[in-house]
Amino acid sequence: MKAHPVDTISVEVAAAEAAQLGEAPVWDHAASRLVWVDIAGRLVHFYDPLSRADTCVAVPETPGVAIPRQAGGLVLAAGHGFGFLDQDQRFEEVAQIPQRQVLARMNDGNCDSAGRFWAGTAGLNEEPQAGALYRLDPDLTVTRVLDHVGESNGIDWSPDDRIMYYVDSLERRVDAFDFDLSTGVISNRRPFVVIDEGEAVPDGLTVDADGGVWVAVWGGSQLRRFAPDGSLDRVIRLPTRQITSCAFGGPDLEDLYVTSAREGLSPEVLLQEPDAGSVFVCKPGVRGRPQRTFAG
Ligand code: CA
Repeated sequence: MKAHPVDTISVEVAAAEAAQLGEAPVWDHAASRLVWVDIAGRLVHFYDPLSRADTCVAVPETPGVAIPRQAGGLVLAAGHGFGFLDQDQRFEEVAQIPQRQVLARMNDGNCDSAGRFWAGTAGLNEEPQAGALYRLDPDLTVTRVLDHVGESNGIDWSPDDRIMYYVDSLERRVDAFDFDLSTGVISNRRPFVVIDEGEAVPDGLTVDADGGVWVAVWGGSQLRRFAPDGSLDRVIRLPTRQITSCAFGGPDLEDLYVTSAREGLSPEVLLQEPDAGSVFVCKPGVRGRPQRTFAG
């Protein structure tokens, strides 16, 4: 593999937490806060960069991702379906996935520019290709858009909305689809990037304003930025190995937040990596794009 530039920019701890499975950071512009989840802890977290305070709310189902709704509150992919968390912190399930998926839980997801919410499953027994990717439309109908999914993870779109990037971690691959924004239909699936080095697999991702695709490398202590042609452009090193996802936030979308996990780490490794489970932040010198919100 040819040498690639490793960034020397400083990475700081933002929210010093010990999340078991910290995941899915999302910038909530209206509230100037970062929303993220601890899947295993069944917690939705809120981090305020101004006060540097992190608070959390317990939810009854394992939350894969939580995204602001245009109507207020959050929409969650959680448990075996989708639910709303209202501003009084009450959770209500609003849609379920089919019964045959009960051995899988809802995992990472994202909203497209038309306000549809996309999220897929992660098999509880890591059975290959037993899961699916779903789309929750603003009228709360659920459509199964992709079958034969192992562990559905990061989803985001190119700035022109013509490409959807999608991670199946069990396949160790980021794929690209052609995307039709007007209909929400995906087509022409092809590999974008393979990450298959020892323990390292792709997890969450975000696309920046220049179309660069930032991929969290679980088991790799890294974020990697890929150019739209799939070439590796930058590597940012993190002080712990289970790196789960990333998102741009802050008033100018210049702060790149990164979530991490303690899951799968031995007591010896946790001694060496005391910040595992925290949220990190750095300024890579590129901006993110505003988070799309759920239109339902
Ligand atoms: Ca994930």
